[in-house]
Amino acid sequence: MSTWPPIERDTKSAAFFDAAAAGTLVIKGCTHCGQTLSPEAAACTACGGTDLNWVDAEGTGTLISWTVVHRAPNRAYTDLVPYTIGIVELAEGPWLYARIAGAEPSAGLPLRVDFVHTEGAESHPIFREAS
Ligand SMILES: [Zn+2]
Repeated sequence: MSTWPPIERDTKSAAFFDAAAAGTLVIKGCTHCGQTLSPEAAACTACGGTDLNWVDAEGTGTLISWTVVHRAPNRAYTDLVPYTIGIVELAEGPWLYARIAGAEPSAGLPLRVDFVHTEGAESHPIFREAS
């Protein structure tokens, strides 16, 4: 049984993965104008400010678009396919790329975050259909 490729944190993503390990999805917020931004944002899309902090997200959103991956990137992952990668519009507005699990994808599908916790690897968010 394969496991997902390891995710490696760096100084910019450490707070994101610490929050994921604790079961919380965090995004960036602009300290100047309050705009919410995706976790990987380096500057505010509204005012251009670069003073960003981490804020808790509600963990809900809707599916914007997706692709179903049928061919594994290499032989180590052949038993993981097919899987779905989607763009989730969070309730706060930012878009997030994430794996979509346990749902037949459709535009506008309501989603809720869940977290994958694997021993020896970074916890990370996935999204499931909101019930
Ligand atoms: Zn701003």
